This record gives sequence, structure tokens and C-alpha cells, in this order.
Amino acid sequence: MQILHPFAGSITQYAEEISDPDRYRPGHCPQCEAKQPLTGHGFYWRTLVDLAFDGVIRVRRYLCRICKRTVSLLPEFALPWLRFGISVIALFLVARLLKVLTLAAAALAAGQSAMPYQRGQFWIRRFQKQAPALGVALAPLAAPAAAPDFVSRALGMLASIGWIAAHRFLFAQLRAHLLGWPPFLVPQGRRATLAAAVPSA
Ligand SMILES: [Zn+2]
Repeated sequence: MQILHPFAGSITQYAEEISDPDRYRPGHCPQCEAKQPLTGHGFYWRTLVDLAFDGVIRVRRYLCRICKRTVSLLPEFALPWLRFGISVIALFLVARLLKVLTLAAAALAAGQSAMPYQRGQFWIRRFQKQAPALGVALAPLAAPAAAPDFVSRALGMLASIGWIAAHRFLFAQLRAHLLGWPPFLVPQGRRATLAAAVPSA
């Protein structure tokens, strides 16, 4: 299970901060509600492209000794299952869907001048599909402004809340994803676990 790292700052600061396992150690298990601190369980690595970063970051993992499941602390500037950071995707979507720039100009606005256009189209498709649900989900944080369509309304709400703050709320409170969960992670970002069909001999 992924939960959000309770830290807002630069990627460099993040990299320094996660070296200490005690600093953000969860005091209880979010999966079985065991009331004891989780045990440090190393890191995994993931790629990330952000405005001033293109590389690999470490994500800290903890283990619950009661239910034997792991919890990883994903920094809030990164989205689960997507390689690109929230800031890049936000700049692209605003440039394309609100300012109506071309795909190439929108990619440039997001600092991704060499990006294949299919990637931008993929983000747009996912955002368009997710926009009506975002408008409803974000209503506790921002009054829905009058807008001609779901996409403009969701973009307006995200601008007033802040994209990362909105993601924090969606993910931590609702287990919802800014761009929607892909089929392989439904429901709510959890991989389906198959029960063993045959008892072990
Ligand atoms: Zn547990």
C-alpha cells in the first residue's frame, strides 16, 4: 500500500530527509490498524520526471509485523503509477485545455519540449475522463465555479486549491487518483491479490 510522505519540499530536500527511517515512521498500520510503529523495510526506486529533475528517487518502505504487509511513503509531488510529476502534468493540462495551446506548445510550457505527443494525449484523455468525478470529489475544498464544462470546472478548482494539495486530499482521504486508477490497480490503487487456489502440499 502506498501512503503519502508528509513532506512538502524540493526533491533534493526529500532525498536528504528520507535517509532517517525514524523521521516519518508511521505510528500505526494503515492496513490492519495495528497500534504499533512500523518497522523500516528499506527502499524501492522509481523514476520521476519533474520540472527540474529527471532521474530515480528512493521511496521508503515500512513493514507491519502484525499483518506482514508493506507500506511505502510516496512523496506528494509524484503520482502513483505515473513517471511524470504533478507539476509537469499540471502545466501541460492547463496549457492545452485552458489556454488551448497546441500539443507541442503545451509540452514546451511544461518543460518537456522533446516529449512525444502521444504522452500528452494520454494525460488529456485521462483527465477528461476523470474531470466530472474531480469536480465532485474536490467540492469540500473549493466551491465549484461556473464553468462551461467539467474539464474547465475541474481545472479551475485545481488552480484554486493547488494541484499538489488537491492530490494530497484525493489520495490520502479518498484513495482517488488525479488522473484515475488504471485497470491493473483497481480498486483504489491496490493490486488485486489472488488467493491460493490449491492448498500447499
Ligand atoms: Zn498491519
